[in-house]
Amino acid sequence: MRTIGHFIDGVETTGNSAEFQDVFNPATGEVQARVALATEADLNAAVASAAAAQPKWAATNPQRRARVFFNFVALINRDMQELAELLSAEHGKTVEDSKGDILRGLEVAEFVAGAPHLLKGEFTDGAGPGIDMYSMRQAVGIGAGITPFNFPAMIPLWMLSPAIAAGNAFILKPSERDPSVPVKLAQLAIEAGLPKGILNVVHGGKSVVDGILHHAQIGAVSFVGSTPIARYVYATAAAEGKRVQAFGGAKNHMIIMPDADMDKAADALMGAGFGSAGERCMAVSVAVPVGDETADRIIAALKPRIDALKVGPATDKASEMGPVITKASMDRIAALVESGIAQGATLTVDGRGFSLQGYENGYFVGPTLFDNVTAEMDIYKEEIFGPVLSVVRSRTYEDALKLTMDNPYGNGTAIFTRDGDAARDFAARVNVGMVGINVPVPVPLAYHSFGGWKASAFGDLNQHGTDAIKFWTKTKTVTARWPSGIKDGAEFQMPTMK
Ligand code: NAD
Repeated sequence: MRTIGHFIDGVETTGNSAEFQDVFNPATGEVQARVALATEADLNAAVASAAAAQPKWAATNPQRRARVFFNFVALINRDMQELAELLSAEHGKTVEDSKGDILRGLEVAEFVAGAPHLLKGEFTDGAGPGIDMYSMRQAVGIGAGITPFNFPAMIPLWMLSPAIAAGNAFILKPSERDPSVPVKLAQLAIEAGLPKGILNVVHGGKSVVDGILHHAQIGAVSFVGSTPIARYVYATAAAEGKRVQAFGGAKNHMIIMPDADMDKAADALMGAGFGSAGERCMAVSVAVPVGDETADRIIAALKPRIDALKVGPATDKASEMGPVITKASMDRIAALVESGIAQGATLTVDGRGFSLQGYENGYFVGPTLFDNVTAEMDIYKEEIFGPVLSVVRSRTYEDALKLTMDNPYGNGTAIFTRDGDAARDFAARVNVGMVGINVPVPVPLAYHSFGGWKASAFGDLNQHGTDAIKFWTKTKTVTARWPSGIKDGAEFQMPTMK
């Protein structure tokens, strides 16, 4: 059986690992590989390699660092098909969707190829007599990224690209459920010209995450995953004095106004609710039609679309939606669906007991639609992270807005309408980090930044865009007086500009 090793000091290795975890094919339920779980010694080896390589990398001029990213992007494009198939085999999403996962990460690698411009500091000429003041952005040193299973290419690339382009060395701890693509990305980075040690990958769960959070040589930690662990990572890393950003779970609402184009809104809900089997942090899991007539129309438009949705393995090109990631996840979703029925929601499309010939042991969940969901039900309160769409009927726009705002999560939201006043009002007032207007999954592009509000994100700087450059660098401000002897004698009062 294939063993997936760590990537330390430029080579794939199982290092000191004595424990391994099975990596499943979610479409078949079969074990297809095993991944080495890092020991403390493995993490220390990765950090030692990073520490040895980082000063020279930071001293390499930013144009040269950027060139590595030009090569890196070209190599990822070269291997796109192979990477996408590998990603699908471990995650379960369709190959086209895997390409989207890789491409949205690649776009951040393209963005940071502008590192020389992004890293420019500020300069004030003549801040005082003979005094110039300037600030520069310097690498934190060693950064670490801890990433979730649902975007095994995109989120690692969102973190490692700005961190490395800014002159840091980076330790990636990807999800142990689909660890192959992150290792391949590290190999491609080396092929692109990245010095060994600048990008290391270690696998594992809580113990290696704890090792990262408490490691004295790691200066900054970026985390993406579920909210309870995001909170834990944020608090633990902050208590260690590290810079930390931690992005958590989501419950994204899409408001459908009575004037919306129902066919377009239904198409949007299909992709946003069932794409990637609902396992996206920006998936729409709650549809909020305004008025009963709107609710009836959107449900009527959704039902035939859900019935026609092609569920199958990624190896079948016709598949539009694959399995969920694990058996535990499948069982959890099934239990939540039962709770929805028991708590009084109307099961409009029943996805229970879904089975596919030849894939009976796969982790497939049939697309499910609930109507008459209320805010008290578990299917509303929990992040289901599966292909289950809940319709919460709302009497008015204000009620729909309030529902969205009262939800503890604040990652993404959308409004579908032809009314510019409503759209503008929604964007201005809603307490959610990413807002779509007639766009169901408003993931910002690489040169803007990505991040939620409320329980969806902890920390003040977002992913990618200029925020990422700020996160992975420290500001140093220099005050210089030339000629140095312009004024003699000691000064005891605080220097001011009076
Ligand atoms: P997860 O929280 O289970 O795991 C995330 C990472 O934390 C993994 O690398 C995992 O190995 C590690 N981990 C697991 N248990 C840990 C523990 N007890 N202590 C320390 N580390 C631990 O998340 P997941 O199931 O891989 O991913 C799905 C979740 O991620 C969903 O909640 C989803 O909304 C969220 N997500 C959020 C965003 C965002 O940008 N806000 C993006 C993608 C996914």
